[in-house]
Amino acid sequence: MKLQYRYAVPATWMRDRLDNLLARYTFGALNRCEHLRDAQADVAVLALWSDAAVCARCRLRLKLVGDADSTCDRCGRLSVPTIWPHVAHPSPGVVVLFGLCAGCNGTEVAA
Ligand SMILES: [Zn+2]
Ligand SMILES: [Zn+2]
Repeated sequence: MKLQYRYAVPATWMRDRLDNLLARYTFGALNRCEHLRDAQADVAVLALWSDAAVCARCRLRLKLVGDADSTCDRCGRLSVPTIWPHVAHPSPGVVVLFGLCAGCNGTEVAA
């Protein structure tokens, strides 16, 4: 599947993860909230750490607690006390949340 990116072209690791996640979303492999299932929502909120796809109203369902909430989505390391939250817009109507540790955050910003 060839995806059209609406904004900046993401780094390779990110593109692979986004492609995978969006493919699963497109083919119905993610657990959609009832609003997305009933096509009552314009925006789907996905997260690199989750198998769920929710509308903006249901976005708190993606929230993690404890160590999982502090795990970097790029390198998988625990990032305490700060994880840097990010949002990607890989295609119209879809946003993807992810968090980076300070090291990965610096790498991405510097790139
Ligand atoms: Zn919803
Ligand atoms: Zn990291």
